Amino acid sequence: MEDGYINQFGKTLYETFFQRYSEKLWGIKCNRISIDWVGQRTRGLNIITIIKDTLFKKKDVVSLVDEFSYPKEGIGRISEKLADKINRLGGQVLMESEVIKINHKNRHLESVVVRKKTKEMEVTGDDYISSIALSDLISGLQPKANRNILINNSRLKYRDELQVALFVRRKHITPDTWIYIHPKEIPFMRVMEMDNWSNILSPKGATTLVFEVPCNVGDRIWNLTDKEAIKIVSDSYLSEFNLIKREDIIAGFVHRAEKEYPIYHLNYRSDIDNIKKFLKQFYNLQIIGRNGTFRYNNMDHSIEMGLYAAWNICRKGRKYNIDAVNIEREYLEEKRIENIDDELLEKTSD
Ligand SMILES: Cc1cc2nc3c(=O)[nH]c(=O)nc-3n(C[C@H](O)[C@H](O)[C@H](O)COP(=O)(O)OP(=O)(O)OC[C@H]3O[C@@H](n4cnc5c(N)ncnc54)[C@H](O)[C@@H]3O)c2cc1C
Repeated sequence: MEDGYINQFGKTLYETFFQRYSEKLWGIKCNRISIDWVGQRTRGLNIITIIKDTLFKKKDVVSLVDEFSYPKEGIGRISEKLADKINRLGGQVLMESEVIKINHKNRHLESVVVRKKTKEMEVTGDDYISSIALSDLISGLQPKANRNILINNSRLKYRDELQVALFVRRKHITPDTWIYIHPKEIPFMRVMEMDNWSNILSPKGATTLVFEVPCNVGDRIWNLTDKEAIKIVSDSYLSEFNLIKREDIIAGFVHRAEKEYPIYHLNYRSDIDNIKKFLKQFYNLQIIGRNGTFRYNNMDHSIEMGLYAAWNICRKGRKYNIDAVNIEREYLEEKRIENIDDELLEKTSD
């Protein structure tokens, strides 16, 4: 990763921002992370595009856009609407149910075992699309995967985080949807201002600031009480940013989010390739999504993978190549934004 960032942005920008931000996000040194992260996270960005954007507001690169689509009532509306439709059409969505076992026989998935609270039940299907973390899929297989695959699987790790929300009696504290924060001394790596995403997400006269505090399950940060986490985040925000007053804060809330970011360790590709090759034997299984494929997807990539998987089932084959999503676009996204939709439409039109 270190070499990738230095090539793309130069040593000064690397040392000033990218190194500090990345090491805070991942909790490990940049030289232990694969260069793939640089390509996927800062795709199309380099020192020239940044200067062009700053001076001429060119907006040639997706990461630098000023506007994007977002559901008025929050991102959860997409899955809520999908679930409504599935239920209306006679399907069933099992909520708060965890897949804990995936039974297979003769290169065919037979059923999954789902746990809801203390109850377990077996669910069968003709086709299976998995978006649970790839490592959980492998460790849930019954019979167990072979020893080499289990070794590959044991190397897949994810970064977790606390999401600390502060409800604040202010509107539009900054004009930004999110701000990335690199100094090590500040516990959060990104802050989002929700009334800049949609102005109906917060009560009248207020906004919600959401702080991402990177950590690993079980470490000191993860084990903070909610009260401690809210105090650490609000103290730091108040003193470092000086944008609001303590009396502006109405309340706080903490969400502990596991497996937020797949960690691209050095040589992760060979682990993933072996696992994917192994899974290809199951002809009624497709894997999709961010953790499901262990690929740093954005939402659109994940949705596109889901569409491909569904179309493959409808067409009884594997015409749509899920593995190509978020790979091919690496070159597409460097083109002008207005061309992207047309090119993708051509590529995916049925
Ligand atoms: C903090 C953060 C900010 C982001 N911001 C953006 C953004 O601004 N724009 C953008 O395009 N993308 C963003 N992304 C990426 C985007 O959220 C992902 O690409 C997308 O949500 C991935 O969709 P998915 O279906 O693969 O996984 P998810 O949305 O994570 O859904 C997987 C679901 O499976 C469930 N699950 C897991 N294991 C099991 C199991 N064993 N049994 C049953 N259910 C299980 C999980 O609870 C979860 O509900 C962000 C991601 C993060 C973490």
